[in-house]
This record gives sequence, structure tokens and C-alpha cells, in this order.
Amino acid sequence: MSKHLILLLSLTLTSIISAQNYYIHAGRLIDTQNGKTVTNKTIVVSNGLISSIEDGFLTPNNSFELIDLSSKTVLPGFIDMHVHIENETNPNQYLKEFTDNTADVAFESVGFAKTTLMAGFTTVRDLGGIGVNLALRDAINAGKIDGPRILTAGKSIGTTGGHADPTNGMKDELMGDPGPDQGVVNGVDDARKAVRQRYKNGADLIKITATGGVLSVAKNGQNPQFTLEEVKAICETAKDYGMTVAAHAHGDEGMQRAIKGGVTTIEHGTLMSDETMEMMKQYKAYYVPTITAGKFVAENAQIKGYYPDVIVPKALEIGPKIQGTFAKAYKKGVAIAFGTDAGVFPHGQNAKEFGYMVEAGMPAMEAIQSATTTNAKVLGLSDKIGVIAKGFVADIVAVNENPLENIHTLENVIFVMKDGKVYKSN
Ligand SMILES: [Zn+2]
Repeated sequence: MSKHLILLLSLTLTSIISAQNYYIHAGRLIDTQNGKTVTNKTIVVSNGLISSIEDGFLTPNNSFELIDLSSKTVLPGFIDMHVHIENETNPNQYLKEFTDNTADVAFESVGFAKTTLMAGFTTVRDLGGIGVNLALRDAINAGKIDGPRILTAGKSIGTTGGHADPTNGMKDELMGDPGPDQGVVNGVDDARKAVRQRYKNGADLIKITATGGVLSVAKNGQNPQFTLEEVKAICETAKDYGMTVAAHAHGDEGMQRAIKGGVTTIEHGTLMSDETMEMMKQYKAYYVPTITAGKFVAENAQIKGYYPDVIVPKALEIGPKIQGTFAKAYKKGVAIAFGTDAGVFPHGQNAKEFGYMVEAGMPAMEAIQSATTTNAKVLGLSDKIGVIAKGFVADIVAVNENPLENIHTLENVIFVMKDGKVYKSN
């Protein structure tokens, strides 16, 4: 059975388990499918799905419960294409890699998952951790803990000394020689093996670190770290297993190799040239900006000792550039998929990204569509999530104000329903 099918099955299963029927009175409803706002609707939710949208505020009969959001704005649950749900930034992060056991990481991640859901993010794509993200996804799907629907890359794939090499910066005795199992590849055979290993572990997609990165203990934050042949081998193998590939990339050369190699999304894309933006369009790749993370690391790099010394100049140089790149890419017509890199900054602040996107020139409605319809499409779930319409999964959130007038209202989500179950209701 494909991973995709398993996910859909689990969607249906959780829906049945949490079956409860509701009439939701929506004062203002954002129609992400058509990019417009409608008013005074009743959303009928039964068995975890949206069964109909009716005009006006209808009175429910006995088998339905009323949720009054008649003075609120109602939207589909948000989707974040780039989070690291296992951990969260703090000055001891690098030390914790040596002190925390897998179980410690797991217990911490439970809190991060809940915080993310409560912020209105009902689906996230996890782009790499130690593998706890796989068990976390399963526990959430089984209804054991509260969190967003997770599609996860498991452990990221990099090259020796690259951004996803887990032993970067360690002393010689600890460095060892990690291989495909640990997500470190050199050559096309390794590349294929690492993808197959991810599949075996239960990953939903593949993440590669196509260039250097800011937060790894290594000097270069932008050099290309895979050959074109390696990227191709990864993308072709991933395709065989029904998986897409997300590529972390700051530098232009590594980004181009990733796009030509067949990745679906470029993450960060900091130093993307005009030529690469054209290439993104030609290859139909999506740009996941993560502006929030860029701003956060640049700010925190000013605090002495927050990051190891080798990271500080990279954070100061690369972080502030992302919003400008996003502005340019959006103007040029590059497809934008909303993603934040939450974990690099505190979980639950994901919606800050909306404000930064609007500030950089994207209309509020398009920013909302990027986090809903666009992301659903990239995940292959466009007939399930991202829209409030008949037949879709009941992932529904609400905010106090009209986000088209004040985008920052999305940072204060007051109602969260996932799979037809209410998780937050003020
Ligand atoms: Zn990341």
C-alpha cells in the first residue's frame, strides 16, 4: 500500500473515531478555491467531513451541535510546508544533541505538535529530524496525542560535511563516517539507498540539503553540496516510491542543480538569481520562502552565545535576504508555497509568515491561498484539504477580524477544528 493511501485511510479513520456533527455559523467565510469572501453561511460538518455549505444561519436539529462563529472570519486550516516539529530553538540546542535521548526528543515534540495545531495549522510538512517525527505522525493519526496532520521526511539527506550530516562540528572520535542510513550520501548508489531507507522507515517524502545551511556547524552556508547526478538519482528513486523531494537551498548553483534534478520545492531560496527564478517556472517547482526563520536567526545572531561562533556570520548575512528574494520571486510569477521553518523559531508563531508575505507585496488573499489550496496541491491532497467546501475534510479555523484588512489577525486563531473534531474554542 502506498504511503499516500495509508495517509488517506488514516484521515478517514480519525474522522470516524471523532465523529460528531456540527452546524457552524460563519459570519465571514474565506473561499480559498475562488479567492473571494462570502458572508453568513452555515457549514454542516458530519463524520469529520464538510457535508454542505448553506446560505444564512440555519438552526440545527438534535443530532447537530451549534458552533457560533457568526461574528468571526472562518478559514480552512492552515498548511505549513516547512517545520521541524521535533525541536525548537534555544541557546542550548547544540548541547542538547549530546545530552538528549530519543525519548526526551519525543516528549518535547508532543508539546510542539499541540502548539502548532492550536495556532491553526492543521497540516504540516516536517522537513527533517532524527526520526521521532515518524512516530509522532502515527501517534497523532491514531488519536493518542493532539497535533496537526504530519507528512514527514524523517531524517534529511545530505552529503559528507553537508548541512544534513549529523556529525558536523563534532570532535574526531565522535564524527565517525555516517552513511545512507543516517542520511549521508556520496554518489548515486548511496543516494538511491538513502531514499529507499527513508521509504522503509515510513517517510512520506524526501528532504535534501542541496547547499550549505545557516544553522549547521560548518563554514559555508551556500555552497552546492550534491552533484546533479546525485540529485537526479534521489528524485528518480523517490518518484518510484511515490514520494516528492524538497530541497533546502541558499546558494544559486546548488539550487539550479536541485531544480534540474527534479525536486518539487526549493526551501529558503535565499540567493535565487533571475535565471533561477525563470528555471523554477520552467520546471514547475514551488518556492517555500521561510521568511520568518530568516528574520529570527538574523535577530538572535546578535545575542552573544545564542549560536556557535561559526554560525553567526552566516545568520547575519543570509537571514535578512529572504524577504527580498520572496518579493522578487513573487513578482516574477514563481509559484509560492507557504512555509516557515518553525522550530528554527518558536512553534506556534507560524502565522507571522503571512504578515511578512503581505509586507513584501503579496495580496492577503493570495498569501492565504498559498497556505491552503497551493500547499494542498503540492502535498497531493487538493481534493481533501485547503478548502471549505462539500466533501472536504473538516479542517476549519477562525479569527476575530477580517484578514484581508488586518493580516495579523491570523496570528491569533480562536477556533480550531481538525478532522471534524474541535480542539480549540474560545
Ligand atoms: Zn528547515
